Amino acid sequence: MLLSDKYPFLTNYFTQAITASNKAMPQSILFYGNDLNSQYIMAKEIARLLNCQDEKNDSCQCLNCKWIREDSHPAVLTISRLDNKPEDDDSKTVISIKQSLMIKEMLVTSSDFHRVFIFCDRDDDGNIAGLNPQNFQAETSNSLLKIIEEPQPGITFIFLTRYINDVLPTIISRSQCFFIPSKEKINYDYSTVEGIFTNYFEIPRKEVFNISQKLQDLAKEVPVNTILESIQNYILAVLKTNPQNHELINHIKILENAKRQAKLGIRPMNIFDDICLKLIH
Ligand SMILES: [Zn+2]
Repeated sequence: MLLSDKYPFLTNYFTQAITASNKAMPQSILFYGNDLNSQYIMAKEIARLLNCQDEKNDSCQCLNCKWIREDSHPAVLTISRLDNKPEDDDSKTVISIKQSLMIKEMLVTSSDFHRVFIFCDRDDDGNIAGLNPQNFQAETSNSLLKIIEEPQPGITFIFLTRYINDVLPTIISRSQCFFIPSKEKINYDYSTVEGIFTNYFEIPRKEVFNISQKLQDLAKEVPVNTILESIQNYILAVLKTNPQNHELINHIKILENAKRQAKLGIRPMNIFDDICLKLIH
């Protein structure tokens, strides 16, 4: 699917900003939302539009467009804790001060290209992930502030993150921020709790601890998080046909909280009792 079909508004917005005049184009951009992959594709598309020497269309075969598609453009760099590290930089968990210095040094010399720096993270499988306070620490963020706020033609910074508050406010205030909605297909599988928790809104209140017990029994065979995920999927599936039901949205939040509790090692009995008491009435 073409990016312009997936995100017509944003693609249009940036195409117009870029073609109207580079002045309309923000120097620092921040994308946030769950779909990091689409954020990255959007960032690269912006880099392509800024560098294309030809028609700027989706199938353009000019050298700049080709290089960007192949991830080999000399002026479009992904900056992560794993990408584009200077040789003497052995940090592996963070975007480092050395990387920030490397960028500053690059900007001292002029370039025929429009330089684009895409700041993000990668997971262990190499998939694009978001910036957070661990991988993009205050020291590095702050060292970039000066070059981000100084208007310089031909340079664009793009930051990718899941939650906007995971990036320092000083970066946010100097950037134009855009929410990128997720276009990933969500799998609403709830077979794990089928027959136990489905139709829970029809279960009488007196059954609360009985249902909790059934979930605890299930947890002897299935990881607690899978059960919670499954209950949440069921609520999401119901919500799809009742989008105005605010109680369901609350229930999804309760499940989010339960998943956090499970991660913290809270006992399944307490977690399931709590969910059943809150959801069954
Ligand atoms: Zn091109």
